[in-house]
Amino acid sequence: MIPSVLPTYNRAPLTFVKGEGSWLIEADGRRFLDLGAGIAVNALGHAHPALVAALTEQAHTLWHVSNLYRIPQQQALADALVAATFADTVFFTNSGTESCELAVKMARKYWFDKGETERTEIVTFSGSFHGRSSAGIAAAGSEKMTKGFGPLLPGFTHLEFGDHDALRDAVTDKIAAVLVEPIQGEGGIRPVPDHCLKGLRELCDATGALLIFDEVQCGMGRTGKLFAHEWAGITPDIMMIAKGIGGGFPLGAVLATEKAASGMGAGTHGSTYGGNPLACAVGLKVMEIVADPAFLDDVNRRAALLRQRLEGLVAAHPEVFESVRGAGLMLGLKCRAPNADLVKAGIAEGVLTVPAADNVVRLLPPLTLSEDEIGEAVTRLDRAAAALETAPA
Ligand SMILES: *Cc1c(COP(=O)(O)O)cnc(C)c1O
Repeated sequence: MIPSVLPTYNRAPLTFVKGEGSWLIEADGRRFLDLGAGIAVNALGHAHPALVAALTEQAHTLWHVSNLYRIPQQQALADALVAATFADTVFFTNSGTESCELAVKMARKYWFDKGETERTEIVTFSGSFHGRSSAGIAAAGSEKMTKGFGPLLPGFTHLEFGDHDALRDAVTDKIAAVLVEPIQGEGGIRPVPDHCLKGLRELCDATGALLIFDEVQCGMGRTGKLFAHEWAGITPDIMMIAKGIGGGFPLGAVLATEKAASGMGAGTHGSTYGGNPLACAVGLKVMEIVADPAFLDDVNRRAALLRQRLEGLVAAHPEVFESVRGAGLMLGLKCRAPNADLVKAGIAEGVLTVPAADNVVRLLPPLTLSEDEIGEAVTRLDRAAAALETAPA
């Protein structure tokens, strides 16, 4: 018989009943150090007092009003995002994949309104992940996500990640946009080097193609800048965000320049819940905390410490690990042992990590992970790796 919850997830046998900062507490009382943070969602850890206060205050006042009316919390959050980024305008969604939907629509509408109605093709990359909506799976294009779900949304050209020649050939003045994660998350913590992001910006400028960044996972302070592309000193035309911006409350957004958004007038797009007062009250508080340069300095300091300790861990277990990669607090342990085995051994030692493609174990801890917790994390990962070494093959 089919389970009452549609069985689309492969769940670990763990039931968490409470969260406190970087820790999750299981129903049986065990405490787990959470280095997954809901896959980069709980950016400020669990039950952060400032977020609890923002949410409860809003909950006592007004939960939902339609986008038929003005929503001050939404306006304030849009103003904060515009002030802190390249963007001139923001549309709020409830998730990353909804942000993908709008990014795709916006890019196509831009060319449509210019009279270039054939200019609909969007270039994407192998190993990418843009969510599970029809546009999201068509954009990523992997067999794993698309098989059986055809006919797929047309208009995506899939390139091999890192193939510069193919990229130069593909991005012509017939292309609507290029869509890329500055650091692939699901794809195995694969950063696009800064000089490649710069080159991509130049290619888009030369051809007119719009540049869309998917910062759903790598954004919101994750890499030690508010957004990952800031390290490369360039900006996109459109950016998708979600995950960390809501700190655990469902919230996403599409940020865009005035030019890129020029086709999106009244009636062209909408969402019942997108930008609702509860989500935006929380998102505003997350922005207030994470966009503070002092907070980001501190993230960078602790990220450097974690990176250094992980390099030591890799060196101590050459049979289990190959290398560390990523940026800030978006780190991947490239494994020699099967990544799923390490995740499982971690659970036995009370530390939660997330598997990714390319045999990588992802570490996406709360941005608030303390120095003591970094020590604890590495100790537990060290025990997990040791357990794999001694386990019979
Ligand atoms: C998680 C993720 C998405 C999809 O977000 P949902 O909220 O699950 O729809 C899109 N892009 C990237 C890079 C992601 O990591």
